[in-house]
Amino acid sequence: MTFELKKLPYDPTTLNPVVSPKTFEFHHGKHLQAYVNNLNNLKTGTKFENMDLISIIKESEGPIFNNAAQIFNHEFYFDQFAPSPKSKPEGALAAAIDAAFGSFDNFKKEFSAAAVSVFGSGWAWLVVNAAGTLEITKESNAGTPLTKNQKPLLTFDVWEHAYYIDFQNRRPDHVAALWDVIDWKVIESRF
Ligand code: MN
Repeated sequence: MTFELKKLPYDPTTLNPVVSPKTFEFHHGKHLQAYVNNLNNLKTGTKFENMDLISIIKESEGPIFNNAAQIFNHEFYFDQFAPSPKSKPEGALAAAIDAAFGSFDNFKKEFSAAAVSVFGSGWAWLVVNAAGTLEITKESNAGTPLTKNQKPLLTFDVWEHAYYIDFQNRRPDHVAALWDVIDWKVIESRF
């Protein structure tokens, strides 16, 4: 199968100024498109040629893993935004966040600290871990919870390409602003 660039579920001009149209043009239109093109080229003629994306991620390593995992991570990342988002979780997810982190505000504080402190390029994640409880994790490069028996719920991309056009070196300011466009209706649906 040939993978294609997944369309954004919103108009990329509507998240400005948290994520500008220019950032979408490069992050979605260039970086994610490059991972898609790279994977299609790399898997040709290999045992991964007709495999679905999740199976490739779980069974590959090296360049094929890196590009496949980055496709999953970015689709998951872009899908969680909305121009008029639900601003906080309710129900079972809200209860699980309170149980694990004390409060929603404290969860955001701990998650932001994790995202800001990823060294170099990587991702911060909220996952359901193997024990069934919520956990904040950090991954380097193309790291993904899919290879660790964890169910991902939320992720912040802290590669510089995610924020450098809009925030330059100010990763903490980007992380603080990103909460304004996270749609908790999407995160609840993943729980
Ligand atoms: Mn990225």
